[in-house]
Amino acid sequence: MIIKENLDEIQNYLSDSSNLKGFCQKVYIPENVDELIDCIKELYQNDVPYTISGAGTGLVGGRVPFDGVVVSTEKLNRILEINEEEQYVVVEAGVVRSDLDSFLESKCFFLPPNPTETSSFIGGNIACNSSGSRTFKYGTMRDYVLALDIVLPDGEKVSLERNNKSLVVNCNYILEIKPSRVVEFKMPEVIYPNTTKNTAGYYLHRGMHTLDLFIGSEGTLGTITQAKIKILPKPSNVLGLIIFFDDLPKAFDFLDLNRKLSRKSFNGNNQTNDHLISARLIEFFDKNSLMLNFEEYPQIPKGSVCAFWIEQEYEQNREEQVVSAWLEHIAQFTPFTDQTWVAIEDSKHREFAEFRHKIPVKVFEMLSQSQFQKIGSDVATNDAVFQNYYFKLLRSLENSGLVYFIWGHFGNSHLHLNIIPRNEQENQLAEKIFDEHIAEAIMLGGTYSAEHGTGKLKRKYFQMMFGSEIVQKMKEIKLKFDPKNLLNRGVLFF
Ligand SMILES: Cc1cc2nc3c(=O)[nH]c(=O)nc-3n(C[C@H](O)[C@H](O)[C@H](O)COP(=O)(O)OP(=O)(O)OC[C@H]3O[C@@H](n4cnc5c(N)ncnc54)[C@H](O)[C@@H]3O)c2cc1C
Repeated sequence: MIIKENLDEIQNYLSDSSNLKGFCQKVYIPENVDELIDCIKELYQNDVPYTISGAGTGLVGGRVPFDGVVVSTEKLNRILEINEEEQYVVVEAGVVRSDLDSFLESKCFFLPPNPTETSSFIGGNIACNSSGSRTFKYGTMRDYVLALDIVLPDGEKVSLERNNKSLVVNCNYILEIKPSRVVEFKMPEVIYPNTTKNTAGYYLHRGMHTLDLFIGSEGTLGTITQAKIKILPKPSNVLGLIIFFDDLPKAFDFLDLNRKLSRKSFNGNNQTNDHLISARLIEFFDKNSLMLNFEEYPQIPKGSVCAFWIEQEYEQNREEQVVSAWLEHIAQFTPFTDQTWVAIEDSKHREFAEFRHKIPVKVFEMLSQSQFQKIGSDVATNDAVFQNYYFKLLRSLENSGLVYFIWGHFGNSHLHLNIIPRNEQENQLAEKIFDEHIAEAIMLGGTYSAEHGTGKLKRKYFQMMFGSEIVQKMKEIKLKFDPKNLLNRGVLFF
């Protein structure tokens, strides 16, 4: 096992992409699962708090330590098996997402939930139940995890398989992890948000599989060491479009109609003419986000107030039909139809993904230069209230005079707001606007965290959304697994 103690060497493990800065005594880097188990057993026996580290691309400070040591999963980085017939891969937790994606692509497969930051680890993706643009059609990581190997906080390793029906929680209070390890608790009655995405809090539903408690628990219940993940054959043809708008309400009408048509097509026969519009992703960029890319992409039409990035899979023999259906459709909503960017080849799709990725990267870079703690929002609401919610938020931002950027997975009524305060006064105003707009989303039945999680930075919103009684019950579940509260201390719970 590699052990790092020198401050220069451990610096990289003391923050994540949120910019939160922590401290720890040492970083342990086990080179295989047995070393990780021995390491965790020893830490537990000696009452040493430990924080599990993935790639550190998290945005809520989850892997940032504030005591004890860090245990990094970076050396557990092997792709162990691909079964093309049964369509799954088995990977260790520290496999970098872009490596897995390239490997799958070489075999003509793909893993649908696609967090934008591909330097993340697959273990981090599962721990956070990550999602991405394709979640609109394909769901989140939870929908693809077939089995997990987990090292519990005291060092005991358990293997949980989704097809093991004895792990389905039929009665409402017992989780039998394995015959020798039964964790008993009363299933709290949790009211979850009425959104299509949520990663806030533990997943607690009667009839759920034990596996689902660990997915999205942000590493508070155990360390994921290995995962068996469902994969799908890579679609042979994908159309990509970046569409610019000169009118925001019309852009929202476009969004509403696309969502409806696409969702209808997911349930129907994709070959009929009714379903020529069937987007697998619907991503939004506001005017300020577009401006960030303007210098590099002068072909962005002047006068654009926002843009949508769309992707759709199609059968080869329908290419012409699908492209013209989209262009006709777009023409109803924007005068910039002729300036729509179109991607058919892989290289062009990659350019579109880069265009998208550059926006958060540039904003996070600005935030990292700032003296203030980054808080980006990750809210989602129900589709029915999303438009009004967005316009209300926009009014308060415009009145504030703050520098802000909004983009997001609008297919799922999910947005990211980032504000760059230029001084202390603006920082306070930004915090007030964040609090108000998150409270408003929660009041509307939405969530403060559609995909980034709670970590250490969003604990107050966790309390706001679920109330202190449910948070306390979730904490009791955590303590059933980790009675000494050593693992990922401070994540989710104060
Ligand atoms: C530019 C940018 C874009 C992003 N876009 C998206 C997006 O589209 N969708 C999305 O969902 N997220 C997105 N994120 C957030 C982030 O990339 C994801 O949350 C990612 O899954 C975190 O993985 P990681 O390996 O970096 O985890 P880390 O940041 O290292 O850790 C995150 C949390 O998971 C825990 N953890 C990590 N590995 C394990 C493990 N093996 N076992 C148990 N717990 C573990 C950590 O303790 C911590 O609490 C984005 C981030 C950036 C910087």
